[in-house]
Amino acid sequence: MAEQAVIGLIGGMSWESSAQYYRLINEGVRDRLGGVASARTLMWSFDFARIEALQHDGDWDALAGQMVDAAKALQRGGADFLVLCTNTMHRCAWAIDAAVDIPLLHIADPTAAAIQAAGISRVGLLGTAFTMEQDFYRGRLEEKFGLEVLVPDAQDRAAVHGIIYRELVAGQILDASREVYKAVIERLVERGAQGIILGCTEIMLLIEAADSPVPVFDTTTLHATAAVERALGVT
Ligand code: GLU
Repeated sequence: MAEQAVIGLIGGMSWESSAQYYRLINEGVRDRLGGVASARTLMWSFDFARIEALQHDGDWDALAGQMVDAAKALQRGGADFLVLCTNTMHRCAWAIDAAVDIPLLHIADPTAAAIQAAGISRVGLLGTAFTMEQDFYRGRLEEKFGLEVLVPDAQDRAAVHGIIYRELVAGQILDASREVYKAVIERLVERGAQGIILGCTEIMLLIEAADSPVPVFDTTTLHATAAVERALGVT
């Protein structure tokens, strides 16, 4: 059997979700290959305090530079392809694509494929304000995959964003915040959402399928699964 490809993970944004990627990828390889098989991975893990400060300063040039440095380090280390373990930082995907020779497995692509496979065309998006409000993520879902993307209203977006940066990236999982998210999901469903994208890699720590009346699409699990399939040559 062919050797597994080496997965280069750009993580630490936050490490709470990177730990989930590491677990899911290793579980995925074990499930498919059996025994004590595990994934071949490298991870670059950032200090999220620095990344978060640059995000909130709006310094996307500096952030792109940081992502490129990490991507190049992983390429030099022997990664065969890259997985950027955050939705938000896909704002800088173009810079990574331009800087390295190995492919970047874009998080929106397996997410959109799962939504299409479920026969859904109108979907609600939860994530950071950057992901919900800027075009880099919604635009890809709309233009490349023909999905209709609904985002929460301004007040709900602020609540969803605040819980991510105050709590989830710090490993705080609170029942009160789950109720806030459930109410936001409810309002998206009332507006016609047929599914909900958990478009921030920490949301799966707070919300599970049972918290939503419509199917949820967890980007962390979908992205990690796509990475396993690619590493094993399934896709
Ligand atoms: N992990 C989150 C995401 O998927 C937010 C943290 C970050 O800004 O990278 O967007």
